[in-house]
Amino acid sequence: MLEIRNLHVNYGNVEALHGINLSVQKGEIVTILGANGAGKSTTLNAICGLVKATKGEILFNGEPLHTQRAHTIVSKGIAQSPEGRRVFSTLTVAENMMLGAFTIKDKALISKNEDWIYDLFPRLAERRDQLAGTLSGGEQQMLAIGRALMANPRILLLDEPSLGLAPILVKSIFDTVRTINSHGVTVVLVEQNARAALKLANRGYVMEVGNIVLEDKAASLLNNPDIQKAYLGGG
Ligand code: ATP
Repeated sequence: MLEIRNLHVNYGNVEALHGINLSVQKGEIVTILGANGAGKSTTLNAICGLVKATKGEILFNGEPLHTQRAHTIVSKGIAQSPEGRRVFSTLTVAENMMLGAFTIKDKALISKNEDWIYDLFPRLAERRDQLAGTLSGGEQQMLAIGRALMANPRILLLDEPSLGLAPILVKSIFDTVRTINSHGVTVVLVEQNARAALKLANRGYVMEVGNIVLEDKAASLLNNPDIQKAYLGGG
C-alpha cells in the first residue's frame, strides 16, 4: 500500500535520512522505533509532504507521493497526528475537528466521521464546545487523533501519541489505536514506548541516525535480545 524506496531527506546541508526503505501493507499496524533524532518524525513528515525528499521515492498504491503537495496527500487518504499534539488552542474541540475535514466536501460523510470519532472518544463529545487549549494533555492527544481521522484516512500516521501521558491514558490511547485499525485504517506508529508499540503492531522498523537498521515482525523484535537491551529496558 505504501512503499518508501531509498528515501533521502536533507535539512539544509545536513542529511537526516540516508536512503531508507520501508513498506506498509493494507490493514497493518507498523511501528517505527528509535532514539531521539533517529529520523522517525522526518520519515512521517516526508510521507505526508511536510518535508521534501532529496532523493528516492514514496509510493501510495503505486502512485508517487513525493512529488505531491501536503494537502493533496491528505486528500489521497493519508493523515498525520503530529508530535506535540498541535491542536488550535483558541478554537473549540468541534472547530478543531472540522479543520481535519478540510479536504472532504461530502457533508454526510463529515457528519458520519464526526459521530464515529465522538463514539471513539466520548470525552471529546462531552467537551465539544470547550476551547482546545483548556483540555488536559490526554484529551488534546485524543483531539489530535480525532482531527486526523476527520480526513477519513486510509493510512493514519501517529507521532508519539503516548508522549507525556499518565500510564492509564497510555493504555487507553493504545486500545483506541487498535479499534481504529480494526475499522480498516492502516496505522504507522512512531513511539518511544517501544514495548507497548510492539505489542500493538504487526511489524516494526528500528531506526538509528537516519538509517533503518532492522525490520522484523513485532513479536520477533519483542524477543530480540539486542532490542530488549536497547529499547525495552533490558527485557
Ligand atoms: P524525536 O523522537 O526526538 O522527534 P526523531 O527520530 O523523530 O526524534 P527527527 O525529528 O526526524 O528524529 O530528526 C532527525 C534529525 O534531523 C535530527 O538530527 C534532527 O536534529 C534533524 N532535524 C529534524 N528537524 C529539523 C529541522 N526542521 N531543521 C534541521 N534539522 C532538523
